[in-house]
Amino acid sequence: MNDPQTFSGGVFHESIEGGRAGAEISIDTQSVVARLQDGQQFSLRFEKLELEIGGASGKMVFCRNDDRSLTIFSEAKGFLKTLEHSGGLLTNQKVDQVKKTSRSNRRKSRRSVLLGLAVIALLGWGIFELVVYGARTAVTALPISVDQQIGEFAMESMDLQGPILEDEVVTAAIKSMIDRLQPHTAIQGFQYKVTVVEADIMNAFALPGGYLVVYTGLIRKSDRPEQVAGVLAHEIAHVTKRHGLQRIGQTIGISGLAGLLAGDIGGLAVLAELLEFSTINKYSRDHETEADLEGVRMMLAAEIDPQGLAEFFEIMQHEQGGLPGALAWISTHPDHASRINDINKTLQASGKTSFKPFSVDWQDVVQRVSKQ
Ligand SMILES: [Zn+2]
Repeated sequence: MNDPQTFSGGVFHESIEGGRAGAEISIDTQSVVARLQDGQQFSLRFEKLELEIGGASGKMVFCRNDDRSLTIFSEAKGFLKTLEHSGGLLTNQKVDQVKKTSRSNRRKSRRSVLLGLAVIALLGWGIFELVVYGARTAVTALPISVDQQIGEFAMESMDLQGPILEDEVVTAAIKSMIDRLQPHTAIQGFQYKVTVVEADIMNAFALPGGYLVVYTGLIRKSDRPEQVAGVLAHEIAHVTKRHGLQRIGQTIGISGLAGLLAGDIGGLAVLAELLEFSTINKYSRDHETEADLEGVRMMLAAEIDPQGLAEFFEIMQHEQGGLPGALAWISTHPDHASRINDINKTLQASGKTSFKPFSVDWQDVVQRVSKQ
């Protein structure tokens, strides 16, 4: 027998430190096999295999088992073709189907590229205003459909760092938090769309327009729903205070914008990058402080214990260092002790001492994101 061809890729699995690792992938006559550098080996049998094409490039091939506890992925050339040929009937139908879905997704993403260009043009007006009235005023003058379109564009183009978790109980629990916060947000009209992503990252983030991403690592490490609700309140505050758009305006300025408009497709990549690195990961300290305070205000109005947010920062203090570089939220956030202090002060000033608990079985939710 010939040497089996290997492809570079990676694995998502609970047993791996950090939840994911790079791997060398091979395909035999019955399964897809991934070997980690430390010799650890994972395999997925063809009959159990579920395929998906996506990721930031739109070309990443994800192979999962039916309960989605194991994902083997590769972007390598020829991987899908080899998979198609190795498993005979078991795989070629699956490959066929996933190719069809991916084609329609590509059409969708071409549409969003056009939308992105329109948004950049629209932002242009905002940024000219910006010079005169400052970022805040300029952003306030833009309709919230701009936030929504930018958010949608970023959501489609970014790497979420893990597979999407589809679990009704987990989704319902997160939704119950949003439902209680939403009536008390500073601006109405945003539709909050939550995506739960399987990755051992104790974090959540918000994109303009109300796209919220919650990592299972956050849910897993939280002792009670108020802690996750606190983080969601903080993230919703970034949305309603329109920090993302302000950040884009501050970052690219007029000359940056001119470059974006001239360079169209290259410019879009720049915009996506800006959103990923400036908007999500590097809100200014002022924006962070504002999001904390606004988050606490919403929680108080919704009768959710704001201590939850303070407790989240306490857990973060113990978890420091475990975050991947691009998502090292803590590095740009004001230090935890002072944030906890500010939250407690606001809580004391409010005079509120009793809150309405959530009626969710939190242990069940945590268990669902902790499956082997
Ligand atoms: Zn923040």
